[in-house]
Order: sequence, then C-alpha cells, then structure tokens
Amino acid sequence: MLEQAKLTLKKYYGYDSFRPGQESIIASILSGKDTFVIMPTGAGKSLCFQIPALQLPGITLVISPLISLMKDQVDALGTLGIAAAYINSSLSYSEVRKRVAETRAGRYKLLYVAPERLQLESFRQLLTTLPVSMVAIDEAHCVSQWGHDFRPAYLAIGPFLQELGQRPVVAAFTATATPEIKQDIVRQLGLADPRIFVTGFNRENLHLAVRTLRGKEKRQFILEYVTARAEQAGIIYTATRKETEELCNFLNENGLTAGKYHAGMADAERKRNQENFIYDNLRLMVATNAFGMGIDKSNVRFVIHYNMPKNIEAYYQEAGRAGRDGEPAECILLFGAQDIVLQKFLIEQSVPHPERRKYEMAKLQSMVEYCQTSRCLRHFILNYFGESDAPEECGTCSNCGNEREVQDVTAAAHTILSCLIDLRERFGVRTLVEVLSGSRGKKVRDNHFERLPRFGALAQQYPQSEIQGLVGWLVTEGYLRQSDGQYPVLKLTDSGRKVLEEQVRLERIVPKQVPLQANSVGDD
Ligand code: ADP
Ligand code: ZN
Repeated sequence: MLEQAKLTLKKYYGYDSFRPGQESIIASILSGKDTFVIMPTGAGKSLCFQIPALQLPGITLVISPLISLMKDQVDALGTLGIAAAYINSSLSYSEVRKRVAETRAGRYKLLYVAPERLQLESFRQLLTTLPVSMVAIDEAHCVSQWGHDFRPAYLAIGPFLQELGQRPVVAAFTATATPEIKQDIVRQLGLADPRIFVTGFNRENLHLAVRTLRGKEKRQFILEYVTARAEQAGIIYTATRKETEELCNFLNENGLTAGKYHAGMADAERKRNQENFIYDNLRLMVATNAFGMGIDKSNVRFVIHYNMPKNIEAYYQEAGRAGRDGEPAECILLFGAQDIVLQKFLIEQSVPHPERRKYEMAKLQSMVEYCQTSRCLRHFILNYFGESDAPEECGTCSNCGNEREVQDVTAAAHTILSCLIDLRERFGVRTLVEVLSGSRGKKVRDNHFERLPRFGALAQQYPQSEIQGLVGWLVTEGYLRQSDGQYPVLKLTDSGRKVLEEQVRLERIVPKQVPLQANSVGDD
C-alpha cells in the first residue's frame, strides 16, 4: 500500500519523496487507525489525508473551517487531476443537492464541508447515504475551547461520527496543540485510541539565539547588528506599539531606513510599509505582532525580538518568518528581566478568566525558561511542541557548541536557597531578588527584610539581573518551583533541599559573555 502511496505522490503531485513523518501518517490512516497529526503550517499536512483518500474505497469527508481555504484546496486538487468538491454556505440549495448526487454517483474522492453543515439534521441524513471511508478534520484545535480559534460548530463532529452506521477512519490535523488542547481534541472528537504524530517543527536553517540584555544595550545591539548586514532584510518585533515607534525612530535617526507596522496606524500607511517590505524596497521592518499574518516573504534573513513574547507558540511563529527560502537565517531573542513583568501585566489585563489566566501564565513560564535555559534552544522548542525524539544538541544555537562556559554556582545557589528559607517560602521572585541584591523595595521595607542575615548577600558578586537569572535557572532545573495563583510564591523542591543538605556541586552552563559586537552573533 505504501508503494502505491509513493506512486501517487509522484504521479499526481510530482514529488519524489515524502517529508519526515508523512509516510508513517499515511500508513497509519491506511491501516484503519484513528490518527492525530500535529504539524506546523506549511509542513505538508494536506498530502497526508489526500493520498489515503485516493487509495481508500468510497469518499473522504474533509471538514475545514474556512470557505476560502476549501475553495483553494479543491481548485488545487482539480489542477492535479483529482476529483474533489466542496459544500458550504456559498452554494445554493439546489447546487448542494447536485453535488451530493454527484458524490453518490462516485464522481468525487474528496468532499470538503464546513463544520456548520454537520449541525443540519437534513445534511447529516444525506451523508449517511454515502460510502464515507475517512473523515479528515483540518484545524482540529477549533474543537477546543482552550484554543484561540474555538469554533462551536466543531462540537458537532464528535456526535456526527457516532451517528454514522459504519465508523470511518478519522484523521485530525492541527498546527498547534499543547498537551491540554491535545487531550481535549481527542475527547471532543471521540478519537479511538489514536496514533499521535508530532513532526515537522524543526527548521534546520534557522539559527536560534538568546541574549540577555538591558534596555539600552538592546538598542545598541540592534544598531550594530543591522549595520553589519547592510543588504539583508529583517524584522524586529517589539512588545508594544510605543516601542515600535521609538525603536523605528531610533534606527532612522541613526541613518538606517526602517519601516514600522502596528495596529494603531492608519490602514494606508500600514499597507504601504508592508508592500515596500515585501517587494524589497524597505529592508527593515519594526513591528508589533500585528505584522505577519499571511505575509509570505521568502528572503527574510533575520528576525530579532526586542522583547520576549508571551509564549513559545507566538515566538516560534514570528521567528519562523525568517528563512522561508531555506537559506540560513537568524532568530535572536533579546531578553531582559523587565520583559517578564510586562508580559505578566499584559496577561493580567487581557485575560479575565482565572483558569485561562493560569494557563497563559504557565505558557509564559515556558517562554521564560527558554530565555534562561543553558541547554540547546532547538531541543527545548521541539520538546515543547512534543517532538520527543529531537536530538539533545543541535550544535548551531547560541547555547550549543563552543559558545559556552561552565560556571560553578554552588555557593550562590546555597545563598539563594537559604535566603528563601529565611523568607519562610512565602514570597515571590521579585522580593527574593530584592533581598539578595540589597535593594529596599516596598515589601522589603514593610517587612524589615534589611534585617535578614542574607540581605545584600549577592550584591557584590552579581548585578540584579544576574541574580534574577540565577533564580530562574534554579526554577528551570527543578530546585525551586513557583506556586500557582495570581501571586506565585517560590518554594524549595526536594532536590532543592538536597542541595542544602548534601554536598552537591552545581554547575551552570552559560553562553560566553561575548562583547557587544554585531558579528559576535551570527556570521561564524
Ligand atoms: P499544511 O497543510 O501543513 O500547511 P500543505 O499541505 O499546504 O501544508 O503543504 C505545504 C507545501 O508543501 C505545499 O506546497 C505542498 O505541495 C508541499 N509539499 C508537501 N509535501 C511535500 C513533499 N513530500 N515534497 C515536496 N513538497 C511537498
Ligand atoms: Zn542547540
């Protein structure tokens, strides 16, 4: 059967080989097992149900959320010589009847429908008269209320599958699914012990880097970096509109022509900047996350994040706009401790629902861990998305290879952990860092923490940002954990206690502190 799949790939699509994962996904569907595929956009999901659809008897029902997408896919299949049709609200009732009749007569192998159709009793009746061998569900995360694209009509899919006399094989596809959403999708759709595939997230040509810098240093870095790359196109993302404006001005004042893009600008100006960027008349774009939807520019050589985004999904999507042409490209995240404060604030402002807020905070925590980890950045991201077989080291990110040095942080860790005990494990990161750095914030003054034995104990040795980094590292490594809730409190874990009780030497691997020079980041 797989031989036939290869022939189909060549005959209809003109491709010589499958991409990683595609073949096993097709094999799983053809073997009749429910199959759940998590693959990023552009990785090649469509093939994974279209090829089995051609090999299975009867027809495949494809549930797809967007009318325009449906039409595109059906048209594309038409040019490949594959008979497909769609049914959605853009058609008259008589046209719908006609297409159903044609489907029954065996004219089509694939029938695309909008989920809303399945809410119509009459339409479900029609479908029971058709020989449906497979149901493919595109954008399956729309079934989950946890996802951002929840679509109530998707809830009709589960019951519909139950209703069908003979249950077809079901294949669900999505580009994003955290563990919670994944479980939710499986439950809501009623997938039967599905085989789950997570694949295609790795982008070999992207060089990932994180640099911990303060506000002014960030600007200086960008200035030098961009100046050293006079011919290259790049995007610089900031967290707020105000910062987009300011950074764009700063670059222009320093003789670099940069455009800007954010949701607060007039449509005409935004559109003009976007087009200038796409058509290579403008090489630098400073923007908020409003920039990027549906932008397909292949030769973006770097994406710099001036601030840490709110979660890894957002980061990887934005960073992924670099290097679409497959040539080497750089994704650099400039991280500063104040980014955490800002993102927490934004979540608190915009997410009223407590459960949901907790969920967003947990995702933010993973983002912070990405910025603070000393392990391979690529492995971290692939592991986050669920690609469990990713290699431990990629050898090309800023944490891999020879850009690192080993620090003995045993003594500092002892001080931090002991100080937390002084605080009776009742305070959060901010207070802990204030005490250790000897700064007299409100909490410190109100509670007279300047009397604690370890007040200012690390001030000589480390700047405040570095103390914060060390605390973050202790969390990432599992020596400390943050409690849930609106005001997270730091607690020691069992392994944290062990560090204090036994003679454990702690080594932290950190990027070598390279001087702030543009070519220290990428060209090597
Ligand atoms: P997705 O649905 O995951 O966003 P698509 O199915 O639209 O992605 O595929 C993205 C592009 O990759 C399409 O142009 C498709 O033809 C191409 N593609 C998919 N599989 C292969 C393959 N095995 N070899 C070469 N190109 C492929
Ligand atoms: Zn790496």
